[in-house]
Amino acid sequence: MKSSRVWVFDLDNTLHNAVPHIFPHISRAMTAYLQTHLGLDQAAANTLRVHYWRRYGATLLGLIRHHPQIDPRHFLWHTHQFPQLHSMLVFERGLRGLLRYLPGKKILFSNAPEHYARWVLQALGVADLFADVVCVERTGFRPKPAAHGFRHVFHVHGIRPSQAIMVEDDLDNLRTAKRLGMRTVWVTGASKSPPFVDVRVKSVLRLRRTLNKL
Ligand SMILES: [Mg+2]
Repeated sequence: MKSSRVWVFDLDNTLHNAVPHIFPHISRAMTAYLQTHLGLDQAAANTLRVHYWRRYGATLLGLIRHHPQIDPRHFLWHTHQFPQLHSMLVFERGLRGLLRYLPGKKILFSNAPEHYARWVLQALGVADLFADVVCVERTGFRPKPAAHGFRHVFHVHGIRPSQAIMVEDDLDNLRTAKRLGMRTVWVTGASKSPPFVDVRVKSVLRLRRTLNKL
């Protein structure tokens, strides 16, 4: 049973804390991109970025829907550049030890672009511990919480959903995971969980203690 577990990890705000530096940097880069490529001033570009993010769950999805002249890959590449990545990353030093401790295959499943996810895993010192990195390009630009990407992960790796554990900070994504039959771990500072969360942890490092419940 234990060896058949498959751990499916989200990246941002699950394996590291993107709030202080990484997310603000991406937001600024997206606003600048919209200014340049849609001919908007900074205020209008920022408003549109936030509007698409709220309306569709990702700025990228608003661009795909309303601005077919924009190449999604070009957008993702230019808005996820991190010359100072090492100094921007906030993460816990025990991460590598934790991932090595958890029995079973590990897969990264993120709505981020693949080049960025691989850079981050490298900088976290854990890239070699993941069997696969499934990002938004691989899911045909249909990000979580859409079921499409989850099914892609199950199919490519020959996984039954009941074997798989989704570790995430985003409740919408965990809701889909549970509906599809996965077990769910919510990484959060919250003190209460909705019913579709099996285990709640303040940090992924706490997974070690909750292993018997999963
Ligand atoms: Mg996340």
